[in-house]
Amino acid sequence: MSIGPLHVVWFKRDLRLADHAPLAQAAARGPVLPLWIVEPELWRQQDASARQYRVVAEAAAELRADLAALGQPLVVRVGDAVEVLEGIRTRFGIADLWAHQETTGGFGFARDRRVRAWARAQSIPFAEPRQNGAIRALPSRDGWAKRFEAFVRAPTVPPPRTLAPLGIEAGRIPDERDLGLAPDPCPGLARGGRRAALALLASFLAGRATTYRRAMSSPLSGWEACSRLSQHFATGALSIREAWQAAQAARHTAPAPLREGIDSFLTRLAWHSHFIQKLETEPDLEHRALHPAYEGLRTEGAGTERFDRWAKGETGWPFLDACMRCLIETGWLNFRARAMLVSVATMHLWLDWRAVGLHLARLFADYEPGIHWSQVQMQSGTTGVNTIRMYSPLKQSEDQDPEGRFIRRWVPELAHLPSPAIHRPWEFGVRGYPAPIGDAHALAAIARERLWGVRRGAGYRAAAAAIQARHGSRRSGLKQVGSRRPRRPAIDQPIDQPVLDLEA
Ligand SMILES: Cc1cc2nc3c(=O)[nH]c(=O)nc-3n(C[C@H](O)[C@H](O)[C@H](O)COP(=O)(O)OP(=O)(O)OC[C@H]3O[C@@H](n4cnc5c(N)ncnc54)[C@H](O)[C@@H]3O)c2cc1C
Repeated sequence: MSIGPLHVVWFKRDLRLADHAPLAQAAARGPVLPLWIVEPELWRQQDASARQYRVVAEAAAELRADLAALGQPLVVRVGDAVEVLEGIRTRFGIADLWAHQETTGGFGFARDRRVRAWARAQSIPFAEPRQNGAIRALPSRDGWAKRFEAFVRAPTVPPPRTLAPLGIEAGRIPDERDLGLAPDPCPGLARGGRRAALALLASFLAGRATTYRRAMSSPLSGWEACSRLSQHFATGALSIREAWQAAQAARHTAPAPLREGIDSFLTRLAWHSHFIQKLETEPDLEHRALHPAYEGLRTEGAGTERFDRWAKGETGWPFLDACMRCLIETGWLNFRARAMLVSVATMHLWLDWRAVGLHLARLFADYEPGIHWSQVQMQSGTTGVNTIRMYSPLKQSEDQDPEGRFIRRWVPELAHLPSPAIHRPWEFGVRGYPAPIGDAHALAAIARERLWGVRRGAGYRAAAAAIQARHGSRRSGLKQVGSRRPRRPAIDQPIDQPVLDLEA
């Protein structure tokens, strides 16, 4: 039976039907092959993990069912993207290829270049519409926020009503063992897929956002108060535009405290794309310090005692250990706790930000390379343009978990301790829990001196100014898009802000 040539929709990190321009465009042209390629090589990368794959596979399984309801289930193939596409071309013929533009790590960038070259060589038109605010080949950051707003305001794209069945083998969705992924039990991992995403969005906008602003900073209250949509944005089960428009619609009828929470959420949706834009503009961001003066400053990573104790949550600093253990068990943490994990690792413990970032990437179920590597560099002070903030593991403990409830939950060895002893068990002769890895104040002071030393180097400021021009948000830019509230400050501090913000 001849069914081709086909309009191939290559699903990547956009595992949904709704607001999916490639699917809608392809379906308007003829028979669609909805394709998901599981690339073993991608899952062998150092930043990949079984927990990430589990969430992606759950989203793909739901998408398969949703596509089947339209007439043609998701077709799954395992292998190299070019080889899979070439196999489809030789068997059925490909009229055109559709995929969302993806901003991702080195493997993905290189694979997309190979696919583009292959499509060109085969004279197959390959269209890659955007799915977030990141713009390819952006000449300047000027006007970026306006373009983001235009993007999220554009109508969402409705899914096709039906798809013609192709009658080809759908293929099984492999599990993590098939891919040889290292065992990664994560008992508290949230479920992936569109249904979970919509339920979280609905509960957040209907009420959870009321406490968002004041509760987001603590990992204890953040679990309920934050949207927890990040893993769904990472798999594409929900689009940024869908979330933005739902939030805009909800804020009009929301009572004041809820509306304020939703407004903060809207700001963060812009941050999502703002940070991804950095990696889109500078794909080397995951490997190289943004400001060259910080390159090679810290070299120690996995295999050293300091790294291994940090990575397991055994530093002897209870709140830090609780955050790491929570992340290991659930795959999620609030922003401040993530920032503290990086800050302490790269400053107090003076570890290489790349090793730190890779470990966390594997633990984050919502791993989004553009946000992740920009943030890892920011929190380890290598960008040259942001205020360097050193989070004290002891002050954060007292501020964010004053009664020690979060510590008791995740560090059961300390569950018997009252507060304030639980924040400093070493002062109370507690057994069965490690002695602190060092004196946090003294370590912070050493790090501060070292970082100041870098800033005194010749040419530092000129390089920083160039980075600000290339990547920094514009003052008038990332205000709270679409709200009537006063402008919020731009997210990147200009270079003349105080450089060291010490909590130690
Ligand atoms: C070192 C470090 C690494 C990080 N790595 C990731 C990552 O791999 N993937 C990821 O999605 N987020 C990352 N973040 C940003 C942030 O911590 C998470 O987006 C947030 O905690 C996810 O929870 P949520 O969905 O409930 O967020 P909410 O607070 O509900 O925010 C809604 C959405 O806004 C975006 N957002 C929120 N905060 C930020 C921020 N500071 N920067 C950019 N976008 C933001 C996210 O898409 C998030 O889902 C990282 C932060 C740090 C400090």
